[in-house]
Amino acid sequence: MKQSPPPVTALTIDWAQSKPPLLRFLCECHADYAAENAGAVANYIPELGKADPGHFGISLATLDGHVYEVGDTKVPFTIQSMSKPFVFALALDTLGAERVEGAIGVEPSGDPFNSIRLNAENHPFNAMVNAGAITCSGLIHAAKGDGAFEYIRQALGRFAGRELDVDEAVYASESATGDRNRAIAYLLRTNGVITENVPAVLDVYFRQCAILVAARDIAVMAATLANRGINPLTEEQVMTPYAIARTLSVMTSSGMYDYAGEWIYRIGIPAKSGVGGGILAALPARLGLGSYSPRLDKHGNSVRGIKVCEKLSSHYDLHMLNRSDDARHSIIADYNIGKNPSRRVRRPQEQEVLAKHFQEVRVIELVGTLSLSNVDYISRRLGGGPRPQFVIFDLRRVTATTRAGARLVAEAFQELAHLGVTVVLAGIKRGSREWTTIAEWTARLGNIRDFYLLDAAIEWAEDQIVYRYGGSIDFHETTELAEQPLLAGLTEQELADLTPLGTIRTYEPNEKIIAAGDDATSLFFLRSGVVHVTLPDGIRLATLTAGMAFGEMALLEPKRTADVLADMSATAFEVPIADFERFRTQHPRAGERIMRNLAQLLAERLIIANAKVDLLTSS
Ligand code: GLN
Repeated sequence: MKQSPPPVTALTIDWAQSKPPLLRFLCECHADYAAENAGAVANYIPELGKADPGHFGISLATLDGHVYEVGDTKVPFTIQSMSKPFVFALALDTLGAERVEGAIGVEPSGDPFNSIRLNAENHPFNAMVNAGAITCSGLIHAAKGDGAFEYIRQALGRFAGRELDVDEAVYASESATGDRNRAIAYLLRTNGVITENVPAVLDVYFRQCAILVAARDIAVMAATLANRGINPLTEEQVMTPYAIARTLSVMTSSGMYDYAGEWIYRIGIPAKSGVGGGILAALPARLGLGSYSPRLDKHGNSVRGIKVCEKLSSHYDLHMLNRSDDARHSIIADYNIGKNPSRRVRRPQEQEVLAKHFQEVRVIELVGTLSLSNVDYISRRLGGGPRPQFVIFDLRRVTATTRAGARLVAEAFQELAHLGVTVVLAGIKRGSREWTTIAEWTARLGNIRDFYLLDAAIEWAEDQIVYRYGGSIDFHETTELAEQPLLAGLTEQELADLTPLGTIRTYEPNEKIIAAGDDATSLFFLRSGVVHVTLPDGIRLATLTAGMAFGEMALLEPKRTADVLADMSATAFEVPIADFERFRTQHPRAGERIMRNLAQLLAERLIIANAKVDLLTSS
C-alpha cells in the first residue's frame, strides 16, 4: 500500500507560541539554575536577610531597545554595590575626570568589597570597592551638598529609564549597623581623600545602596553602559562616552572584587554585583544583562547570577577579547564608468569623450560599518589601479561609522584632495546619522560633493569629464529629427514626410510630460533641454538630452509605465502613435529601420542593466 504524505498541519508553525531563540535560551538558563540552592542570603545588613531566597529573575536588554524577561524580573530589591559604577560615572561627569581620578585609583585591590585597606598613596584602590564608592558619594556631596542624594537618584533613574525609589527599611538597617563603612569613611577623611562631613556622606552612600531596582531595570542600566551612555529605551544620552568607557574599564578590572581576575578571564564581560543579589553585565556594543537571585557566594556575588553569565558567555562565545573581523567584505563593488555609466543617455560626441576617459571616474560601493580596519582596507584598495579624477563612494549600504573609521575617512579624503582627486559621496541623505558623522569629520576639507542617488553622482562626474575634455554642452541648442538615433538611416524624403505629422511642444521646468498609467498615444523626440524618466516610486530610470526619443515604448506597450518630467525648459516634437503607424505602413522600409533602431536601443539598455546586476553579484 502506498504511504500517504504527512498531514499538512504538522508543518504549520504556531507563531503565537514561538519564542525568539535568545528568549528561549534565557528560559532554559532560568529552568536549569532555579534548582541551584548553594550560597546564602546576605544578613550583615539585617534587613537584607529577609529576602526570599527563591526569587530568580533574568532580563536582557538589547541595544535596539528590546527587553527579554524571564522569572522574577519585576521583584524589587536594593541595588547595593551595583550603584557604584553609575555614581562613579556621575562623579566623572559632574566634577571632571581630573578631580575624580586624583582622588580614586583604578587598580584592582584583590580585596573583598568592604576592605579597609587603601593604596600606597592612602587613596582607595578603585571606585568599585566601598572605600572608592564612599569617596564618589563624598565628591557628589561636595558638588551638590544636601541635594547630593536626590541628584544621584535622578541620574540612576535616567540609566533605568524610570524613577527609582528607596527601600527605607534597608537604608535604616544599614545606617544603624554600618560601622565598618563608617570606619572606612573616617579613614578616608583622615587621609584627606574626603573633606566633607562624614555622617552626611555616609547617609548619601547608604541611601544610594538602598535604591530599589528590579532585574529588568538592571538590564536596561547595563545596556546603557554597553551603548556608550545612550539609554536604548529612552534614547537619552545619560552620561558622556568618556565617563562610560572609564566606568566599564574599572568594572572590567575590579567589578567583581577579589573574583575580578577570574571573572574577566572566564566570562570576559564587564560586570558588577551587589549584596542585594543582583548582577549587572554590560557587553559593549552588544547587550546588557540583569539578574536577581539573593543567595551569594563567599565573594558576595549571586550564585545563580554568575552561572547565568557564564552560560551566556560560553554558549554564544561572547568573551569580549575573543573577536575577529574581515575588512575585505566592506567593498561590495568596485568599477569605473566604462561598463557602468549613469542612466543619462549621452549624445554621440559625449559618448566619445566618456569612452576615452572612462578610467577617470571610479565607483566604490561599500557595505557594513566604516571601522578603522575597513576604511584602511578601502584606502589601500583605492591605491591600486590608475589614478582617477573622481572617486564616488556609495554609502547606501553603510550601516554605521565608528569614530576611528570616520577619522580615517577624513584622513583618506584629505590625501585624495592632495592628489587632486575629487571625492563624491552617494547614498546618504543629508542630515542622516551617517551623513552627520562624515560631515563632522570632513568639515575642514570642504571639497566633498554628495548626492543621494548613486546614479546622480555618476552622472555629475561624467558631466565634469565631458566639460573637461569636450567643451560645454549647450542644452538650449535645438537638434533636428535627422539627428535622432531612433530615426537613423531614414532618407531625407522619409524624414520630410514624417515632419508634418508632429507638433512642436514646449515645457516648463518640472512640468510632467508623461504620467505613468496613462494611455500611450504618442511618441516624443526631444529637440532641446533635458527631461528625466522616473518610476512612480521615485526611482530615476534615465536622463535624456536633446536628440533623444522618449515615450517610444508606445510602439510596444499600450500604457505608460513611467513618468517623464522636464528638468529645465524643453521642447519636443510629438507624433501621435496612430499617425506614426500610418507612416510606417506607407513607408515599409523606413518602418523596418525604425523598429530595428528601437531594438538596438533596447539591447544597449539591457547590456548596461545586466552589467549593473553582474557587478553586484560577482564581487
Ligand atoms: N551597602 C553595601 C555595603 O556597603 C554594599 C556592598 C555590596 O553590595 N557589595 O556593605
